[in-house]
Amino acid sequence: MPNPPFTFQCQRSGNCCRTGHGQVWIKQHDIPAMAQARGMTEKAFVTMHLRRVGDRLSILEGAHGRCSLLEGLNECGVYTARPEQCRAFPNWPAILEGGEGLDAAMRYCPGLRRNEPELDV
Ligand code: SF4
Repeated sequence: MPNPPFTFQCQRSGNCCRTGHGQVWIKQHDIPAMAQARGMTEKAFVTMHLRRVGDRLSILEGAHGRCSLLEGLNECGVYTARPEQCRAFPNWPAILEGGEGLDAAMRYCPGLRRNEPELDV
């Protein structure tokens, strides 16, 4: 796999969890641990924190795309049970491509830096 076109050092801004830029996909097998992390029944967790998008489930967002599981500015309320998409950030296909996807991510994430092009010498 080629090197990513960026460097990333998390600044704990929490922006990736509260600036609204799409869905955070949840799989059925994510639900028990996420519900347990919140001290909720699975049914209550699904009702309070998830929404259906077509035939998939995504985390419910509040105002301006703030994840409903975010506590305070930057504390994930299900951190140890957070879904794969959250664990993988910023190594998402659209960001790894290095084009507009990376530009968009850099607008909200202060920990991303685009690699400088290598100079031919
Ligand atoms: S589940 Fe946690 S890590 Fe994922 S977007 Fe919500 S607050 Fe952020």
